[in-house]
Amino acid sequence: MNGYQQLLEATIAHLEDLRRRGQSWVLVKPETLAALAKPPPAAPRRPAAAAPPPPPTSPVPPSPPARHAPAPPPAPPPRLPQLPAGALGFLTVAPAGPSAASTADEPDTGDRELAVAALRTQVLACVKCPHLVRTRRSVVFGVGNIYADLMFVGEAPGADEDAQGEPFVGAAGQLLTKMIQTMGLRRQDVFIANVLKCRPDTPGQTSGNRKPTPQEMVTCLPWLHQQIDLIRPKVLVALGATALEGLTQQRVSITKERGVWRDYRGIPLMPTYHPAYLLRNQSLAAKRQVWEDLLQVMEKLGLPISDKQRQYFLKK
Ligand code: URA
Repeated sequence: MNGYQQLLEATIAHLEDLRRRGQSWVLVKPETLAALAKPPPAAPRRPAAAAPPPPPTSPVPPSPPARHAPAPPPAPPPRLPQLPAGALGFLTVAPAGPSAASTADEPDTGDRELAVAALRTQVLACVKCPHLVRTRRSVVFGVGNIYADLMFVGEAPGADEDAQGEPFVGAAGQLLTKMIQTMGLRRQDVFIANVLKCRPDTPGQTSGNRKPTPQEMVTCLPWLHQQIDLIRPKVLVALGATALEGLTQQRVSITKERGVWRDYRGIPLMPTYHPAYLLRNQSLAAKRQVWEDLLQVMEKLGLPISDKQRQYFLKK
């Protein structure tokens, strides 16, 4: 599949996803519509002069899109937000404001949705790791409330996440959802993302997952950084050593670091064990450790904590 087809497929997937979420329209610049009406890119060996304008071969265009259309549009579009540098010129507008679950007092309703949608379009079309592009079924962008105060960061999609295009939907994900609910929140109240957006390939294996390589992490991390910059959570939780290493760019021992606040560019960051670890180690002590980390997160966010919640996973 060439770059154009990848971008097209990612765009179609993104539009279908928006439609599934109830969004019924997108804002598209007139020149984009005009370009879409043109035939697909040149067949091999067609003279360059006769070919239509080349499509982008990289998810990141060489220069930021024009913020204003050169020709007057048939119907004047709503105001165009300032897009982050490098964002695609493909804009979407979500119909709804922030969910009631967000406690944030947000001045940028709409703009954030546009910026996250533009980032999502770029991420879905990412081909920076050709070996992962070859084996992936989905690019797993992230899920949840883009106005969330709380963001969880995991390692990388596994087989289930790759199949469903959503992070933390397998066994570890179901446990994470329970942990979130135990905090008195719903999965859709928080944002969940991974350091890697593609499943690490496992050549020669029919099952199982592998850790991302340092190179894969360095390549993919700018996407996570942009997600955090746009969502601006009040607290980040790093699930496991790989997530913490990605966010801090340091070699860490999660056993030593868990439960101790770190700082990620001004955002309090709580490292804790990955839920997959809790599936392997079913001890009450391990559960309590993670729960104590989450209690600290709840305190930092000013979430209500009942006496009963404080006692969870303590020996009776
Ligand atoms: N483990 C992760 O770190 N992320 C997922 O999305 C699923 C499992």
